Amino acid sequence: MWVTEAMNGFGMTVEVEAELCRRQSKFQKIELYQTGKLGKLLLLDGIIQLTDFDEFAYHEMLANLPMFAHENPRRALVIGGGDGGILRELGKHPGLEVMDICEIDEEVIKVAREFLPEISCGYDDPRVKIHIADGSEFVKDKPGYYDVIIVDSTDPGGPGTPLFGETFYRDMKKALRPGGVIATQAESPYLLPDIVARLNRVSRSIFRSVGYASIMVPTYPTGMIGACVASDRDDVTVPARPVPPELQKRLRYYNAAIHHAAFQVPTFVSRLFEQN
Ligand code: SAM
Repeated sequence: MWVTEAMNGFGMTVEVEAELCRRQSKFQKIELYQTGKLGKLLLLDGIIQLTDFDEFAYHEMLANLPMFAHENPRRALVIGGGDGGILRELGKHPGLEVMDICEIDEEVIKVAREFLPEISCGYDDPRVKIHIADGSEFVKDKPGYYDVIIVDSTDPGGPGTPLFGETFYRDMKKALRPGGVIATQAESPYLLPDIVARLNRVSRSIFRSVGYASIMVPTYPTGMIGACVASDRDDVTVPARPVPPELQKRLRYYNAAIHHAAFQVPTFVSRLFEQN
């Protein structure tokens, strides 16, 4: 059997062997499949969230770009990210004291804990505190608190819609300590150019340094996804500190060279940013 994510005229199709779980939560339809080649496949409202095969690329980059754009992050917040993959990557940073997660849908956490142990192991870290709430509201209660905020959200349309608005970006800025960094799931310029351009425009109107990083993820439609990284620091595209060798050994995608390289965008993307 084949499962297809269809979005905006594109499709991404994966061959699956068995359905492991299908639930309708208060917020979305949750589906989990066993595939032959790609391990497990998680979909929310029919949209691919991750496969075991390539989740490391997305999670390592979305976590480590902001963590290394900051020279001494102590407090991190994940918004969305119910599968636990971003927490797993943050857990590799011994300097973090606070690892809060604000996920709107408790059912996603339950499914991940039951079926995706290699990803949801992120929750085993004693520094993790789970908050079940809408991230766009949660962030308003924490002025000047976080060094890093990571938004690992679903696409606009469902519960993730407020996480793509200007108000939310302004509230995230208020929730940061001086020098704090945000990184948000910022879509693909092939698939959703208007959203990519808008997130860039909004971020530039709020933060001093903004970059759009491309991440190769073969099972997302168009084979890639972006991260919008922003801060009032000098330049988020350059790591603020070296990657410790013991951490580098545990990473398969992120390194200091790709931190800088990922922010070099093709001409059509820079034009998209110039024109918007
Ligand atoms: N890597 C994924 C992708 O882009 O394909 C995102 C994965 S993660 C599972 C997305 C999570 O964001 C979901 O569990 C969803 O419930 C959560 N989410 C959506 N809207 C949210 C909101 N307003 N506040 C907090 N979490 C939200």
